[in-house]
Parts: sequence; C-alpha cells; structure tokens
Amino acid sequence: MASPSPQAAASSSSPPSVSPSKPSSSPPSQAKKAAEDKEEHESIEEIKKIHAEPLAAVRALLSIPCDDDVTVYRFLRGHKMNVSVAAQHLNATLKWRQENKLDAIRAKAEKLTQRQFPFAEKVLAVHPHNIFHGYDRRGQPLSIERLGRANPHQMCRTVPFADMQVYHFHHMESKAALLDRLSLERGEVVRTCKIMDFSGLGRAHLDRRGMVYVKKLLDLSQGNYPEMLGTLFVVNTPWVFTFAWKIVKPWLNEKTLAKIHILPNDGYIDVLKQYIDEENIPDFLGGKCTCAEHGGCVPLKDPNEGMTNVCVPARGSYKHVIDIDPTKFQAILSGANNAAAAGQVTQKTEGEAEPAAAANSSSSSSSSGSSSSGSNTVGSVCVAYEFHTESNDLALEVIAEPYTSDGKPGPSSVLRASKRYASDQEPILGVLSIDAPTRLTFNFDNSFSYFTSKSLWFRIDVDAKKETATADEDEEDVRKQMAGLDVNAMQSPPTPAVK
Ligand SMILES: [Zn+2]
Repeated sequence: MASPSPQAAASSSSPPSVSPSKPSSSPPSQAKKAAEDKEEHESIEEIKKIHAEPLAAVRALLSIPCDDDVTVYRFLRGHKMNVSVAAQHLNATLKWRQENKLDAIRAKAEKLTQRQFPFAEKVLAVHPHNIFHGYDRRGQPLSIERLGRANPHQMCRTVPFADMQVYHFHHMESKAALLDRLSLERGEVVRTCKIMDFSGLGRAHLDRRGMVYVKKLLDLSQGNYPEMLGTLFVVNTPWVFTFAWKIVKPWLNEKTLAKIHILPNDGYIDVLKQYIDEENIPDFLGGKCTCAEHGGCVPLKDPNEGMTNVCVPARGSYKHVIDIDPTKFQAILSGANNAAAAGQVTQKTEGEAEPAAAANSSSSSSSSGSSSSGSNTVGSVCVAYEFHTESNDLALEVIAEPYTSDGKPGPSSVLRASKRYASDQEPILGVLSIDAPTRLTFNFDNSFSYFTSKSLWFRIDVDAKKETATADEDEEDVRKQMAGLDVNAMQSPPTPAVK
C-alpha cells in the first residue's frame, strides 16, 4: 500500500491524490455517485459560512461545550440538519465521552498501532480487519474487513463484550483522530472508505448471539460517531449474505445505507479500481498489495490453531470422550477450572458481558438499562464444539451417559442424532447445555464412506454456563428479525454424494 501509516500521511505536506476517476456505469448507481461527488469537497470554511446559524444554534443547546465545527457539523448532517435532534444526540455523546474517558483513550490510541490496542490479538483472531490500509483515490483513509472470515460463534465465547468495547473505543478514536487531523490539514470534511469482504461467509455466521454482539457495536458507532463513513464497498457476497443482509439492513440508518455499494461478484475489481489505486487493494481482492512486511494486508489466524487433527478411516469412525464426572462438573461450576481436568477447558464463560463492565467504569448511553450485572448463575455446563474436514463430508453423533447416584455413568441416550455435514465447505459449530454430570461421546462417523478417509479438525471447549435472567432489548430485536427467516430452509451447498 502506498502510505504505511496515518502518521506518515498526516505529516506529509501533500495529501494523497483526490482526483477521482469516474465510474462509467452502475454499480454504484449514478445517483449515489452524484451525491458522493457533491460531498467530496466540503470546505470547512464554506460550512462555517453557510451553516453558521444551525452550528451556533446547536452549540447554544449543549450542556458540555464543543468547539469543534466539524464535529458539530457531522451531528447536524447525521440528523438531517435538525438542530434540536442534533443537539440532543451530541449532548448525549459528549456526556458518554466523559463517562468513558474517551479523550484519554484517543490520546493513547493515537500513539498505538492497531495491533497494540488492548485485546487486539484476540479480537483480530475472530474478526480479521485492518483499520488503515492507505487511501482511496478521493483521499479517504481506507479500511478492510474480512467479515466472511470472522468467527462470531468464537467471538462471543472468547472476547467478552466489555473487552471488545475497549478495543472498539481505541479503534473508533484512532479513526476519529485521523479524520480530524486530515480535515484540519485539508480544510474539508474527510470521511472514510471501507471494503467489506464477505468471502467465506456461511450459515455459521448467522449466529444469534453473534448478531446481538454485532448490533451492540453498530449502535455504538452509529450513535456516537456519525458521518464518518464516506464509501463502503461490499464484495464477494455468497448465498448466505442475502439472509444476513436482511437482518443487518434495518439496523443501519438511511444515511449509512446510501453510502453502501454492494458490488457484483463478477468483476467487482474493475469497480474497486475506479475508486482505489491498485497499489492499495489487497492481492486477495485482485489488487497489487501484499503487505508482506506486516504478514499480509489483513492477516488471518490459522483456522486450525488450537484444534486437534485426526484421520477418520474409511468405513470407520473416531470417538472423542468428554467425561464431565461429578467432581469436574462441580469444579467447572465453581470456576476453579483445571484445564487438565476436562480436556480443553477454558476459564471463559459464555454469553455477553454487560457493556463497560471492566476497564471503563460507566455504562454506555446506548446500552439497554439492564440490571443483571451479577448474572443468575444456573447449574449447567456449556460444551461448545467446532469441526471441519479438509475434504468431503462427515457425520457427527453425540451420545450422553448421565452419571447416576452411585457415581458411575448410567444408560446412554442420543443427545444429537447422527447427521452428515458438509464440513469441508464451512466449519460446523454447536453448543450443548449439560445440567448434570455426564459422559459425552462425540462420534465422528465415516462408516458411510467405503474408500475415503477424512482428515478431521475439531475442538471441544467446556465452560461454566451463565445465563442472565433479563431479556436484552437487542436480543429481542434479533430474535424477531431472525424469526422471519427460515434458516434451515435456506438454499445451501449441495449435499455431496456418497464417496
Ligand atoms: Zn496491503
């Protein structure tokens, strides 16, 4: 990519080229393009002149002073130039910034690279993205997200929402600081350009908890950082995207929607190149950048890290036993997990943490007024499994043998009936809730295959399960939207024939 860091770009006397080449036809639509062109050079001096009255009117309504014209203008524009609505939102944001000490976070974030942000390693492992990858032709800072390679299921389990929020604050503040600096240098309102790559998106991404998690983050960004997005390109949209989009679309305001270009899978690179120099487009999207010195433009974590690899023979099966005996069951519930005791036990608990529970003492203004910080712990253990095969499908059956009063596993029953999965097409994820000491047998079955052995990668995590009694507004929202979609009836990759 052309400019290695925002700092370098900011200190450079000549801003990047802002002469756009005009795409000849849709997509993006001509109307969108015209609106974007109009927005392209919004001079701060002109804004101060033209909008002097509403800018002053908003200021007069603020209980916390804000002397930055561009910020006030972003709120005005984000709320259709409605003075009282803009003032109300800006007031809430300024208060929220004070409560969460965001000025201090901004000062800190400006000195850090993305990978130095708190919790960056575990966030990037489940949500690969690069928040600064040079500029587009209009001079907008470019970011890239590989959402199709994100793992919402694991994100909910390994990154408590409070940690994600701390990371997200650093992310948004470093971005806001860069935009402020560029706007000041160029004398015009600068926004961002983003590419969202959905390559790899599958049914597993329609994880309800993951959706709730994402919605909370979106609400934070949209409410408190309005008008930062200039252009968003959505590329590599597989069949499942249509469904995910139906859920996510209503969460976005119309201002944001107007800036989104969903590009055709065939030939999207030609459109991208009209907006972004090839040198700043990653090679995995058809551009020329490899960021070899950083380990890739948007490095992906090895999907097999932390997983066990075995060979399941043809006409055979592989059985993996997770023995949660009474002692282990109690140990897990009491939180005194011993990793050696139950295989790959981790000390993480499932479920969303309440926002701002940790590093930032106050709660966010956009969180629903939940009072369940203590959580009502119920006596169950969560067993989360994930597996995939290198090629060809595999069946899984889970057998349970609950311990009886004499301290031994009792009669077995089928917990998950045997089913063949296209596990080479996407990772297969599942969660079991265990209410009492139980011996579980995961039977990875390949008996249907006469000639082909399968290379299986799997992980099974056992955690204490916490459930909050309070229904979350976001959760309700997602439930309603997902209820309208029959996930099981979706068109899915064809079931492979017997091999
Ligand atoms: Zn790169």
